[in-house]
Formats: sequence, C-alpha cells, structure tokens
Amino acid sequence: MSTAAFDIVVVGGGGSGLATALAAASPEVRVALIEKNPKLGGTTGLSIGSITASGTSLQRSAGVEDSPDAHFADFDLFAKPEGAVDNLAFRRLYVDHVADTLHWLMSLGIVFHGPSPEAPHTRPRMHNVLPHAGAYIYCLAKACRARGVDIRVETTARGLVEESGRVTGVEADSPSGRSLLRARKGVVLTTGDYSAGTELLRQLAGARYAAIGALNTTSTGDGHALARALGAQVLNGHLVEGPQMRFAAPREFNWVKQLPPSRLVGQAVRFAMATLPQAALQQVIKMYLTANLQPTTRLFDAGAILVNRQGMRFTDERASPAFDIPAQEGGHGFIVFDGAIGARFEHWPDFLSTAPGIAYAYLSDYRRYRRDICREAQTIASLARAMGVPEDALATSAAAAPTAFSRPPYYALGPLYSWIMTTDGGLAVTPKFEVLRGDGSVIPGLYAAGLAGQGGVLLPGHGQHLGWAFTSGRLCGLGLARL
Ligand SMILES: Cc1cc2nc3c(=O)[nH]c(=O)nc-3n(C[C@H](O)[C@H](O)[C@H](O)COP(=O)(O)OP(=O)(O)OC[C@H]3O[C@@H](n4cnc5c(N)ncnc54)[C@H](O)[C@@H]3O)c2cc1C
Repeated sequence: MSTAAFDIVVVGGGGSGLATALAAASPEVRVALIEKNPKLGGTTGLSIGSITASGTSLQRSAGVEDSPDAHFADFDLFAKPEGAVDNLAFRRLYVDHVADTLHWLMSLGIVFHGPSPEAPHTRPRMHNVLPHAGAYIYCLAKACRARGVDIRVETTARGLVEESGRVTGVEADSPSGRSLLRARKGVVLTTGDYSAGTELLRQLAGARYAAIGALNTTSTGDGHALARALGAQVLNGHLVEGPQMRFAAPREFNWVKQLPPSRLVGQAVRFAMATLPQAALQQVIKMYLTANLQPTTRLFDAGAILVNRQGMRFTDERASPAFDIPAQEGGHGFIVFDGAIGARFEHWPDFLSTAPGIAYAYLSDYRRYRRDICREAQTIASLARAMGVPEDALATSAAAAPTAFSRPPYYALGPLYSWIMTTDGGLAVTPKFEVLRGDGSVIPGLYAAGLAGQGGVLLPGHGQHLGWAFTSGRLCGLGLARL
C-alpha cells in the first residue's frame, strides 16, 4: 500500500469538498482531495445552481434591501418538517456567512443572474449561476489546482485510520491499488447525501424510501457510514426530499450544457439575458428543459392521468404517485391528458415546470424543445401507437379519467421516473465542523461539511443546500488551515 502525507485530506469532490480544499490550501498547508467518480462535481455539478443569500452586492445593485436578520426570520415562513431538529446556531452561521461565500465564488470567476424572488422569502435572494452549475466545479477546481491541491479522481475512501483515538488518515482505493493518505490536521468528509444509499435510507428513513432510486446514483452516503462506524450521530436522518417525479434528461446534443463554464461565457449569457430578454429566455428555457424536469402536480388536479407501459392507470394521481412509479414496468409512467387540459398549461400561472427564479416552461415549450418526451395525436388510438402502449387499454384509461378526455389533440408526457433528490440527514458537528459522537464528544481529527455535515440545520426552499455546501466547506477549510 502506498502512503502519502498531507495536512488535510478532503473526501469528496463536489461543491463542499472543493470549497473546503480551496479555503484550506496554501503553500504552508498541503491538501489532498479525493473523488470516487472519474470526474469532479457530485450533485453540485448536476444541480440547477441557485444560491439563496442575503446582503449581497447583486442585491444592492438591484436596489434590494436585505439583511442576515431578515433572512434568518424568513426561514420560519416555511413549514417545518415533522420530528425535525432545527439547529438555529447553524442557521445563524449560514445567514451570516452566505453572502461572503457568494462574493468569494464571484471572485473566482463565477457569474450569477439575479436576485430573483421566491415565496415565501420576503426579499428577492435567489442567485442563479450562469451558464450552468458546471461553472462551480470548473472555477473551484481550477483555483484548487493553482493553489497546489492534490486532486485524485477515481479514488474512493474505504476506511478511516484511527490512531490513539484520533483520525489520522484515509484508506482509499484507486485503479492503481490501495493507498493510505495521512492527514496531520484532519480528514474532512464532504461526501454529499445518501439519496442512493439503500441501507442508510432503510435505517434512517424507512423501507419505503429504500425501494426508490436516486437522481444521483453515486450519492451513497459513504461519509455518513464511515463516521457512524466510529460512533457518529446523524441528525434529521428521516428527512428525504422526494421521491419526486422527473423526466429523464434528453440524450441529444445540447449546446448550452456544452458551453465552457468560464467567467466570460457567464458574463455573455448574463448580458444576453439583460439586453435580449425574449431571445435569451428561449435559450434559457431550452437549457432548463434539457435537465431532469419536474412536472407540476397541478396537471393531476386539472384531470390528467398517469398510465404505465400497459396503458393502465396504476395509482391515485392526487395521492402519492411518486411512490408507485418505480414499481411499474421499466420504472416509469406517462402523463396523459387532452387538449382542454393542455390549453390551461400555456400561460402563467399554469406552467408545466419551472427552473426557480429563471424560467417557466409551458406545454408549447415541451412541444418545441422536448419532442423526445412529448407526444401529441388527434386520437387516443394514435397516441397509444406513438407511446408504444396497447390502444384498448389506453382508451379504457382515458374514458375513466376524472374529466373524460374529449378534446383533441391528446398528449402524453413521458417516460416519467420517480427519484429521491436529496436527503437532509447530516452528521452532528460542532460549529468548527468537528464530527460528534452520539454522546456529544468530538471524534478528534474528523470533520464534515456540506450535506454530509448538515448538522441538523433545516435548509428550506431553493438555493440553501448549495449555499450551505459552499459556506460550510469554506468555513471548515479556513478553520482547519488555522490549526
Ligand atoms: C437535480 C438537482 C438540482 C438541485 N438544484 C439545487 C439548486 O439549484 N440549489 C440548491 O441549493 N441545491 C440544489 N440541489 C441540492 C444540491 O445540489 C446539493 O445539496 C449539494 O450540491 C450537495 O453538495 P455536497 O458538496 O454536499 O455534495 P456533492 O456535490 O454530492 O459532492 C459529494 C462528492 O463526494 C463524492 N464521494 C462520495 N463518497 C465518496 C468516497 N467514498 N470517496 C471519494 N469521494 C466520494 C461524490 O462522488 C461527490 O462527488 C439540487 C439537487 C438536485 C438533485
């Protein structure tokens, strides 16, 4: 087994890991970052990219008066999940530092659009990255390399090394074999969530969640498991975001996703959005239509139905259909509706899906940009043929729809999958991000940030998970560097 020595070893190359490594690294502080996947990014790289922050320079430029205190208070406008711990000290830490984090990201060349409003926040505070979330990974990784961080991809942490009661390193596997990475100051777990961690889901959230797949299949909660093996505690382990119904992203080439996520491109997109609203909006809508879009459940309130590959309804669409989709053939279903329902989803406020704060997509957008998942026909029989489902079964399902379908054209959106998006259970940590055992004692040498180190803080609405990932990572890295 090869051995290498560092001051800090960061496990996980998503947003929080890259922020930790960059904030900690200097000529005096040697940092290694290991990432199990072939590429850096994690869920951060797959995300929409919004950060909710208060007291930012972008808010000031837009004439928005805001403060951490107002932001702190607005958390209480969101419904609190049942049985949840609510770590107010970490909420305070978040609102007090997230603006600095946003400015720090901007100083690395990351460009934002906004702020945009999002109810029930009382001020516009959502900042959306341009041209896409790949910019976070590109700019942070570039800065990490420039600062000498030893980044190793395809390197999976398998175990923590404990010596005399202190975590002193990580054992990791890579294509070249097993290695020991020693960490003089500490090991930081920034391994993300356990949305794809079947056993953790079963233990912490319940068996019905363990049966659902995750959008990010590599979010297996490795850091949670490694720390739990040393007695660490997970707070809010039962909080699962999802399952949510989502369309698969298209396989076809999407030039927006291919844009290099540099500062120049971000600025060009922002300029286009400011000066050519209509033309730019079309491209922005297209960009978000090519992500894993979530259809509004208001379609079902309006009378749309869900059918499976046999053309049959299989669930009460207005109850919890997302739990029933994974059990269908191919793990997917289709949303079917007629022209009368379709016409309602052409105008604000009846959008089919949204990229919060940036764009709303209507049926005509799906017809134009997502022909791969939007089928349209003049009869139910021809719609069935286009979907590849039995004609008679679809006719029976359509006839029994809550509002019998009568007005052509008829539409089918799908395949529609159901995934867990994220989990909110994080390791209990101190304000210095030291991992705590169940008895409240610190595990010396072990730290956690991002979703792995969520520490019982609730992050309601959009934009606060990324805000937490970058803020907790940055603060954890700065603190460790000072040790
Ligand atoms: C579709 C989608 C859109 C989203 N959009 C937004 C949004 O707009 N705004 C927002 O605030 N939040 C959003 N979120 C949530 C947000 O993206 C995540 O909460 C956040 O990115 C988590 O960051 P992280 O650094 O903790 O984890 P990640 O970004 O997932 O990084 C963890 C990394 O650790 C690596 N890793 C795991 N185990 C090991 C191991 N054993 N060894 C080595 N490496 C390992 C993983 O491969 C991964 O790269 C979204 C989530 C989804 C699914």
